[in-house]
Amino acid sequence: MSHALNIAASQTNAPRIDDTTPRALPSLAGMGRAQLREAAIACGVEERKAKMRANQLFGWIYHYGSTSFDEMTNIDKETRARLAAHYTLDRPRILERLVSTDGTRKYLIELSPGVECETVFIPDVARSGALCVSSQVGCTLNCTFCHTGTQALVRNLTAAEIVAQVMIARDDLAEWPSSNADRKVTNIVFMGMGEPLYNLDNVSDSIDTISDPEGMAIGRRRITVSTSGVVPKISELGTRTNTMLAISLHATNDALRDELVPLNKKYPLKMLMDAIRAYPGLNNSRRITFEYVMLKGVNDSLAEARALVKLLKGVPAKINLIPFNPWPDSPYECSDPAQITAFADLVNKAGYASPIRTPRGRDIFAACGQLRSESKKVKASVLKKQRLEAQAAAGE
Ligand code: SAH
Ligand code: SF4
Repeated sequence: MSHALNIAASQTNAPRIDDTTPRALPSLAGMGRAQLREAAIACGVEERKAKMRANQLFGWIYHYGSTSFDEMTNIDKETRARLAAHYTLDRPRILERLVSTDGTRKYLIELSPGVECETVFIPDVARSGALCVSSQVGCTLNCTFCHTGTQALVRNLTAAEIVAQVMIARDDLAEWPSSNADRKVTNIVFMGMGEPLYNLDNVSDSIDTISDPEGMAIGRRRITVSTSGVVPKISELGTRTNTMLAISLHATNDALRDELVPLNKKYPLKMLMDAIRAYPGLNNSRRITFEYVMLKGVNDSLAEARALVKLLKGVPAKINLIPFNPWPDSPYECSDPAQITAFADLVNKAGYASPIRTPRGRDIFAACGQLRSESKKVKASVLKKQRLEAQAAAGE
């Protein structure tokens, strides 16, 4: 593993990891098959051999988690040397790594200078563990209960940056090669920072790489994409990725949903429900997950539980009740446990699985809706100036 990881810290003010290794060359880690082919050609591999070389690289990178070209014994030495002269296998830098008392791990990752995202590993969900990945830095949608929503969008993540989040977690959990039977990262959820359907091209490309059976091999049914309701992209998500769909619902009438999830003003409940009913591949073994954050006195009455059952009638669904996770100055409180249980019982009796999601990693601010990096939108020209000044100061 190429990263010097800091020791586990279980508080949010842990020191930043002091990894100042320069990242001069681009990295192959995160690239899809087509990009690897282009990289091979750029390193002098003949066109007719490029696909084979790309496949070999793909296996080394995503099956073995290689961090050095030297290991790639089925690629000749000369090609390896040329690859190493042009590329690295580095992952993005980990700025902070926090481990919660409940085993949840949070990574603050630097994607480019001043641009950071968070990734969270949650053990013991489903069969083994889920990795919650970010698709954007910040979010343009200002859901009023979500901390990420208070951070202006900085930018979309590239496909490689999404894939690299999975690689970083697997490095840290020592789970290469991919055939390792004790794999802990068994599921991927796009429930980190950002709205995945506003970055669908890159999300879709990243899923192609993550799910590839010759690489990390995380099956498409073990990948869930969560959306706040970008209606025109829902069907496309299904056809392009064939993954599981989660909808952040949170309210059963337009007036309240307009307030909690402002995107509802553009795509109201009727439109959203029509798009959900038309989701490709929807059936009883392939249910849609509805996320419902429990906000005290706002959306947690039993009348609302009944309205929820009515709204979802006929949709193969599972309802995740998420106790609200507070963040500094958040305008809501979490519903009382007894109210959450009563709400869950009612929905359950109507025939819907409605697990109450235990908050994970609250002590390290890794729980749903608590993610927010310090990245701010900085103009490219300012970044360039900062870089030149840093180089001048370093006497380069
Ligand atoms: N943008 C996408 C995916 C990221 S949000 C979406 O909204 O679906 C992941 C989940 O966390 C969503 O269901 C979101 O509604 C929920 N969430 C946001 N803030 C929360 C908070 N403070 N407490 C509990 N859940 C929250
Ligand atoms: Fe964005 Fe999702 Fe947070 Fe809403 S809940 S602000 S869509 S990340």
